[in-house]
Amino acid sequence: MNRRYYAVILAGGQGLRMGYDIPKQFIEIEGKPILRHTIERFMESFDDIDIIVVLPSGEKEYWKEYCNRTGFLKRYIMPSGGITRFHSVQNALKYVPNGAIVAIHDGVRPFVTSDFIRSMFEKMEECNALVPVIPPVESLREIGPDGTSTAVDRSRYRLVQTPQIFYSELVKEAYSQPYNPLFTDDASVVEYLGHKVSICEGLSSNIKITTPEDLAVAKAIFRGEKR
Ligand code: C5P
Repeated sequence: MNRRYYAVILAGGQGLRMGYDIPKQFIEIEGKPILRHTIERFMESFDDIDIIVVLPSGEKEYWKEYCNRTGFLKRYIMPSGGITRFHSVQNALKYVPNGAIVAIHDGVRPFVTSDFIRSMFEKMEECNALVPVIPPVESLREIGPDGTSTAVDRSRYRLVQTPQIFYSELVKEAYSQPYNPLFTDDASVVEYLGHKVSICEGLSSNIKITTPEDLAVAKAIFRGEKR
């Protein structure tokens, strides 16, 4: 069966303002909002991929105005963010039919590459759910209930990135479960239903811009890429 491809780009949270009067996904680097850089990587990966952009309801007008003014994204679906990431994804999945493959990605991870996205969709021939991970580079300690800490073997751990990719039937079923605070990402929601999640090697450059320091790093990387 030929499955349609969807990308859910998540920017539905309130997040840090980072000293700007616009949310971090709209901050411009090299003349374009971070969110646009991210979406462009998905548009480059497949001509006919359907893009769903989740934004807080109060920020949709800003984005619509940007898209109209610059001619970016003539065809897209824009559900509202929910109170948690889980609820934002739930809102987005209403627009994804069964029989599709859907990638769920943080809007503030603009360094994902179109080659990497394509390679993940290709790997879906062998699995139903696929998540990119990288090894931690720092030492790890586990904090106990009494506040004391113990060193742990970091080779047993991985850091989880996005895009996380799923057969749409599976992820839609998973997101019909009631919300549980243990859900930290899409893989955890799918696993809670008892399904296996496969992992693949992520990209250390695929950083999530969360803090002002990340923003400074992101600007430097973009400048380096242009040179
Ligand atoms: O807050 P955190 O960095 O963990 O958010 C991870 C991702 O989930 C971000 O892309 C953020 O925009 C998204 N999110 C969302 N709706 C929320 C909270 C977070 O789309 N209510």
